[in-house]
Amino acid sequence: MSAPSHHRPRIRRTAVLAAACIAAAGALGAVPLAMSAHAAPDLAHAVLPARDGWAASGKGTTGGSAAGASRVFTVSNRAELAKALKAGNGTAPRIIRVKGPIDANTDDAGRSLRCEDYARGTGYSLAAYLKAYDPKAWGRSKVPSGTQESARAAAQKKQAARIVFKAPSNTTIVGVPGTGAGLTGGSLQVKDADNAIVRNLAFTDVRDCFPQWDPTDGSDGNWNSAYDALSVRGSTHVWADHNTFTDSPRFDSGNPRHFGREYQVHDGALDITNASDLVTVSYNRFADHDKTMLIGSSDKDTKLRVTLHHNVFQGTVQRAPLARVGQIHLYNNLFETAERHGYAFSYSISSRARAQVVAEYNHWTLPGDGKVSRLLTGDGTGALAGTGNLVNGRGTDLVAAYNAANPGKRIRPTVNWRPTLSAGLETSAAQLPGSLGRTAGAGVLAASGGPAGPAVRTS
Ligand code: CA
Ligand code: CA
Repeated sequence: MSAPSHHRPRIRRTAVLAAACIAAAGALGAVPLAMSAHAAPDLAHAVLPARDGWAASGKGTTGGSAAGASRVFTVSNRAELAKALKAGNGTAPRIIRVKGPIDANTDDAGRSLRCEDYARGTGYSLAAYLKAYDPKAWGRSKVPSGTQESARAAAQKKQAARIVFKAPSNTTIVGVPGTGAGLTGGSLQVKDADNAIVRNLAFTDVRDCFPQWDPTDGSDGNWNSAYDALSVRGSTHVWADHNTFTDSPRFDSGNPRHFGREYQVHDGALDITNASDLVTVSYNRFADHDKTMLIGSSDKDTKLRVTLHHNVFQGTVQRAPLARVGQIHLYNNLFETAERHGYAFSYSISSRARAQVVAEYNHWTLPGDGKVSRLLTGDGTGALAGTGNLVNGRGTDLVAAYNAANPGKRIRPTVNWRPTLSAGLETSAAQLPGSLGRTAGAGVLAASGGPAGPAVRTS
């Protein structure tokens, strides 16, 4: 277990430390603290191991593991998923096993729904909307209102009724291994809930058919979309593990531009907001996406204690994460910053609104023309501490590089807390590009519940 340095790490020392730890790392990571004492349960009944990030705090995170047989649901289409999430209307433990990919944009008979199907009967058309709110006619000082905006909102509401799924307290939602389980076009929301586990699901192509124009957002206006693939709002004790998040197969490069701005149909991949607290995000793959992860929806958000470990970010443009306010721990994550499918890298971690980020033993891969100073960003009030971070295999002081390039908005290199819930932390990041390729994301967990991969395999 390593604590963050309260001094700016020196490159030479970090490199020596990293080299010394490579040999030990496999052994250190091989024995999970919670699961070595007894046989692993099946995947659907698994709970968050002890000390595995902030979600292990207090009573820990057990999701629906205590569910009786009558509250274990296996679902393979949208209607079954919606029904299982509402069954009993209560918060008694429930387990939902997702078998195969589920398309959220389907009717109750399982037929595909297109954007036009949602718009039908509302009076909405993109052409009419563009005409009504063209800055040349509408101006840029107020948000759209009136007939076409009402029609857009009505159409959006119809899509939301299909694609938004709410997970109650004490729920586990888990993909059945070997079935390609996931949710296409759906937004899973953990809202005002406690104790939820989401594992082994591929969240793909979550798309808002009806983006809203906001001419007052930024200097040039923005098209904003409504749905995060996984949204944690006002919730506590949440574990998101071994999921994949990707815009594929509908990449942003296919988005048109209107009013000179990208017509953005995607929102967040995994946003953690509205005073959410005690969240562990582990072994997920975030690929080919722009606004990847908000921690905090505004600078006035609260709580937001979140751990991110052993996640892979590849082809993500920004917010990996955008961290606000809370005590946020990032360790053993891999950031591959090369452009993929037109997703051009902007930054990885933003520390703002006095966020207290500890980032240690993470690994960045950076193309030849990439700048280390661009891996971080901030508003001048955030902090980021921690040692052992590597860029292309070399120990690198990210904060020093960022601060040298941004003297007006410095990131503080010290924080006001010391992480203790970091089971499985590997005190070298050198091996991550190899190991996480095999162990992160949906589809690698085994049915036995024994997480795949050398870092957390039960002994
Ligand atoms: Ca926005
Ligand atoms: Ca969002």
